[in-house]
Amino acid sequence: MFDERRRRVTSPGAEISPLGALPPLGVVPPRMHAQVVRPDRFGDPATAFRPEIVDTPPIGPDEVLIAVMAAGINYNNVWAARGYPVDQIAVRQKRGETEDFHVGGSDASGIVYAIGDDVTGLEIGAHVVVHPGVWDADDHWVRRGKDPMIAPSAKIWGYDTNYGAFGQFARVQAHQVMPKAEHLSWDEAAAPTLVGTTAYRMLHGWAGNTVRDGDLVLVWGGSGGLGSQASQLVKAAGGRPVAVVSDDERGAYAMKHGAIGYIDRRKYGHWGVPPLVDDRAGQKEWAAGARAFGKKLWDIVGHREDPAIVFEHPGAATIPTSIFLCEPGGMVVICAGTTGFDAMVDLRYHWTRQKRLQGSHGTNDEQAYAYNDLVRDGAIDPCLGRTVAFDELPAAHSAMGRGEDVFGNVSVLVGAPSPGLGRA
Ligand code: NAP
Repeated sequence: MFDERRRRVTSPGAEISPLGALPPLGVVPPRMHAQVVRPDRFGDPATAFRPEIVDTPPIGPDEVLIAVMAAGINYNNVWAARGYPVDQIAVRQKRGETEDFHVGGSDASGIVYAIGDDVTGLEIGAHVVVHPGVWDADDHWVRRGKDPMIAPSAKIWGYDTNYGAFGQFARVQAHQVMPKAEHLSWDEAAAPTLVGTTAYRMLHGWAGNTVRDGDLVLVWGGSGGLGSQASQLVKAAGGRPVAVVSDDERGAYAMKHGAIGYIDRRKYGHWGVPPLVDDRAGQKEWAAGARAFGKKLWDIVGHREDPAIVFEHPGAATIPTSIFLCEPGGMVVICAGTTGFDAMVDLRYHWTRQKRLQGSHGTNDEQAYAYNDLVRDGAIDPCLGRTVAFDELPAAHSAMGRGEDVFGNVSVLVGAPSPGLGRA
């Protein structure tokens, strides 16, 4: 966000640090290594990201500079690298920001290196993780005490904003900073917060349909970043998550992380926009597919029971099935449209059975801190699938975009010299 009160906090004489090393605590070099996206490279993340040396960002009075030890890789920077559906650099320039590049990254573990003048309760040297919800404190919506993640100024850090976790120093608002779980390494700690806090809000944030003891919850992409966090959160709340996956290995991974069973979606073919209502034969065929899928869910549960919550993010391919299966009065809660945005809802099932289709995005502080407490208590596994070196960041995003990174989350080393370091 554009803030003319920002000031550089760099240290005179300090030189750029090599990757995998940190300058002395509190010493901030003027330049830093970063993985950078530029508009003329928009497209495949493998070539859209490039290592560059850029200025270390200035910070405002309510902001903090973090020396990034490890960063988490998320799907949002696949979108940012493609420049689709939003060209984030152009959007920021319209807001008055001058940079013509994007340093993304919405998950970080690291060490506080500089603190803005108005920040209280944080100390240089603190070991922290960062949640991705940002907003303007003087936004009229926020001032009225309403959920800041719905405010007009709400944004996702390291996607909508510049200077995320893919540089040696990241700029964050002080309220985003949370204590790092001591039992986790830097790369483990960097892995789960964006997907975990998003899942927490989806499952606990929508009054009337929050996950309750005993609830059956259908979780799409059960072995992926969001799905592996969602199943654990459902289980922690006493619910019964059933994962949807696309092979047995992914199913086994989902069950290791809380799912009571899994459905292999490749065995069904009714995906995407169903035939229109007038196409009776097509409708019949589609409904048979959706019913067969639902029957598999009943088989797993052991009786006829439909999900109280459907945890959605594939979007166009799966929404018709999600709405069809959700129990009366239940909720389909969605945070993405990975397979397409133009999803179709058959309103007959929606209104007569009084279901809820709830959009959800990001996290507020309360939800993020509650999620982080679960991680610090060891109740939630960060599901670190693999850790990659800094120069492998573009390829890792490209693999995620092709649907190849399918087990939990991926972290990238920035200031940490190797995986597994940083446990207390
Ligand atoms: P991920 O780790 O790549 O997982 C995506 C999952 O989607 C995979 O496990 C895959 O499972 C499943 N999938 C792929 N194609 C599918 C299809 N045709 N039908 C059904 N399932 C399919 O990604 P993620 O981190 O979980 O993120 C998923 C989406 O959520 C992304 O678009 C991301 O940008 C978005 N997101 C939004 C927010 C927010 O705040 N709004 C936050 C986090 C993520 P199988 O192939 O095994 O079924």
